[in-house]
Amino acid sequence: MARDTFTTREMIDRLIAFDTTSALSNIALIDFVDDYLQGYGVTTRRTGNEDGSKANLFATIGPDIEGGVVLSGHTDVVPVAGQDWVSDPFTVVEKDGRLYGRGTSDMKSFSAAALALVPSFLARPLKKPIHLALSYDEEVGCLGVRSLIADLKANLPRPAMVIIGEPTSMRIVNGHKGIAVYETRVTGQAAHSSQPHRGGNAIFAASMLIDFIRKMAEAKRANAVPDSGYEPPYTTFNVGVINGGTAQNIIAQDCNFFWEHRTLPGDDPASILAGYETYAAETVLPKLREFAPDAQIVTALHSSVPALTPEDDGAAEQLVRLLTGLNASEVVSFATEGGLFQEIGISTVMCGPGSIDQAHQPNEFIDIAQVEHCEAFLNKLADWAAGD
Ligand SMILES: [Zn+2]
Repeated sequence: MARDTFTTREMIDRLIAFDTTSALSNIALIDFVDDYLQGYGVTTRRTGNEDGSKANLFATIGPDIEGGVVLSGHTDVVPVAGQDWVSDPFTVVEKDGRLYGRGTSDMKSFSAAALALVPSFLARPLKKPIHLALSYDEEVGCLGVRSLIADLKANLPRPAMVIIGEPTSMRIVNGHKGIAVYETRVTGQAAHSSQPHRGGNAIFAASMLIDFIRKMAEAKRANAVPDSGYEPPYTTFNVGVINGGTAQNIIAQDCNFFWEHRTLPGDDPASILAGYETYAAETVLPKLREFAPDAQIVTALHSSVPALTPEDDGAAEQLVRLLTGLNASEVVSFATEGGLFQEIGISTVMCGPGSIDQAHQPNEFIDIAQVEHCEAFLNKLADWAAGD
């Protein structure tokens, strides 16, 4: 097979040119990367969705043993529709020391730097493996990487650490909040609005539940953790969408609403849900069933991303401190795949080029200095992996 070589800049150009908006297939990008890696004899594994339109790629450079580091990046990008771009989002434009294009900061430049350096990684006698984990559908709830992680856990030697290359301006980030989104569906019983004793008003029931959520939010705010570093420094709640009822003179039979919480690491999502379910079952449902015996309240998890929890003396953070020379770490307000790697017991930290301030924006860019910083970081990582 051909051994293509790319500078990091050339690799960024190539990756950006694949329109991997989450709604679209990422297979063309994965095929390109897979062919490139196989050209160097690197073993790759794919996991993906059922219809084959999207795939993750996991590759191991160096020895096929436990340990080493996973460099983790998502291949998908957020939509450009409705945004005012001055140039084609899928063609990299260099201007004033910056590279413009969708995904330059979030987060194809990190993956591109790692890929461009593969020949340089291979030139060293690596004693510890460097793995690449490229995922799909990160931007729509960290969905794709779950099958990659399941495959990793079940079938592969366990890596010691994960570095999530999300844009942190190459600073060390060891924590973010977790997200859970739920849908609650309340089913009451329709009746003429003049006859509440013959129906069950789903909107009244929903309003009690929503008020309970609001009170949970107030309680978390009253017990903020000011030195946690999070903005705001407490678990938050939101009710974002509600639908219910059909006419003013009909007792509403149905009401459904979407709500979420974003938890500080250490705040247990399961116990929040359990408290809500108990209130629904013991306080709201009996009222709703007074004249509507078949009434129901059903809450289902719509999507969730676990928190990235700061680790005490975490191996990944220690390594990134060693490689960057930084001795401070911070937390961020956006969610990543990191908590999912932590869930299978792998030490995880975030460090990647570019700024989250540019992510998801029109005219997204990355400073070329950040790309160079990332390359230097990855070369130091490779030296570490080649050492004893
Ligand atoms: Zn991202």
